[in-house]
Amino acid sequence: MDRHIVEKIAAIVGDEFVSTREDILLTYSVSASTSYEPVMPGAIVRPADTQQVSQVIKIANEYKIPVTPRSGGSSLQGEVIPIEGGLVIDLLRLDTIELYQDLRSVSVGAGINFGALDKYLNKHDLWVPVYPGSSLTASIAGNVAVNGSGFGSSRFGCIAELVLGLEVVLPNGEVIQTGSEANPNAPGPFLRYAFGPDLTGLFIGSLGEFGIITKVSLKIFKRMHYFDFNTYGFQTPQDAEKYILEAKENDVSMVWIAIYEGRILDFFLDMVGEEYGVPKHDWPPITVSVVIGRVREEQLESDILVAKQICEQVGGHVIGVRELPQNEWNDRMREFVRSSYVHGWHWRILYHHQTISQWHRTLEELWSVFDKFGILGHTAGFQSDHASYNYYPQLYYDPQDEEEENRVRAAHKELSTRIFKTGAVPFKLAPYWVDGISEMEPYFDFLRDLKQAIDPGNIMNPGKIPLIDPEG
Ligand SMILES: Cc1cc2nc3c(=O)[nH]c(=O)nc-3n(C[C@H](O)[C@H](O)[C@H](O)COP(=O)(O)OP(=O)(O)OC[C@H]3O[C@@H](n4cnc5c(N)ncnc54)[C@H](O)[C@@H]3O)c2cc1C
Repeated sequence: MDRHIVEKIAAIVGDEFVSTREDILLTYSVSASTSYEPVMPGAIVRPADTQQVSQVIKIANEYKIPVTPRSGGSSLQGEVIPIEGGLVIDLLRLDTIELYQDLRSVSVGAGINFGALDKYLNKHDLWVPVYPGSSLTASIAGNVAVNGSGFGSSRFGCIAELVLGLEVVLPNGEVIQTGSEANPNAPGPFLRYAFGPDLTGLFIGSLGEFGIITKVSLKIFKRMHYFDFNTYGFQTPQDAEKYILEAKENDVSMVWIAIYEGRILDFFLDMVGEEYGVPKHDWPPITVSVVIGRVREEQLESDILVAKQICEQVGGHVIGVRELPQNEWNDRMREFVRSSYVHGWHWRILYHHQTISQWHRTLEELWSVFDKFGILGHTAGFQSDHASYNYYPQLYYDPQDEEEENRVRAAHKELSTRIFKTGAVPFKLAPYWVDGISEMEPYFDFLRDLKQAIDPGNIMNPGKIPLIDPEG
């Protein structure tokens, strides 16, 4: 990057918080995504606060430098890989936490990750009931930018459901506040849908295309202390789907629900089952791993009973292996994450939300694609909203094997088209769905018009809105 521009940025943040050193640029050229090529940015800047972010963006705008906001860098689909020669704005120094106990809310700077926030709220017997598997790295702001979800989402929904407002630096450097805090006299965050249309929503799942989130205000809840961990067995996916729907309809407070095929459980537990104390078991075709959580003990007892009754009514049985959901919950799925990395494989992932009653449709498409392309892959996911299931199938390849990698890329592409046809949706901007979404031209045209209006210089994380080829 031009030295003159770097000097201008350094005058805002201080010399020590801007860098063009190659070894530093190298660390920002990658993310946790294993199957995306590194791209070298031109400079890294680490502003201290919103005002500095705003000033830096004004410079980027003046010189039309593409900007990639980066918080934890833990995203898995290349979202945070920079533009070559562009500017990465690392937001980790924005590390404030403000608690509004009477408003049942908290505001955090873009640099705060889920682990740090949980540690803080724990002291007040409170929590944010969405906790991604990557929580010790993933920032709240980064999670909002991808509309992520995690432990707790099975009851409380994706992170979007908890957001009360955002502070955002727009691509022209102006700072806006959304939600009730848009009123400068507000005592703090207490209502998202204030002053008309939901501007907050424009930035959720946006991958930073519309601005940089510098602060997130979230709902907080009293911490749960009563939990039940259990596994429920079914002969068919449809029975398991019915079980989950019925349990939700009856307000059983399932904070974690994951569905596994028997063969997938064998695959995971073969690697980590012993270490996590999960006893050997002859798993049924479908296992539902459940954590019920409650604030009060008598609520929990009632829920346990109802969960069992519903399971039996739909033809299932209580398996009784508690160590699986208990370890998933306590360890925040570290074991499954580890199993993804353990062999040195690379993988492509196809995040999407499927309706719970169509969980089996994704499964059918997945195995059909795995078989067609002759690749290794697996299902994974969890219930993560009112009636939807957050699927993250992984497609593995040996990074040394170019032919296999190409097969996986082709399979990934075909899968996105097929999954779209089942009615499923990605929960964020997802360029990798481009081949599947040809029927959505007007929607994306509108999004591009918005982008053009807000960011005419196209500097903010450009290229993340899928470009539809009308010819298909
Ligand atoms: C082991 C592992 C487990 C994971 N488990 C989960 C899980 O359970 N649930 C889940 O949802 N995800 C999970 N992820 C994915 C990832 O951790 C989340 O998407 C995470 O929330 C991203 O946050 P981040 O701070 O790391 O964002 P980054 O990777 O830094 O950025 C993600 C995207 O958001 C943009 N962005 C970042 N910060 C801002 C900002 N302040 N303003 C505007 N745009 C911004 C970036 O440009 C990029 O496009 C997992 C990842 C790993 C490696």
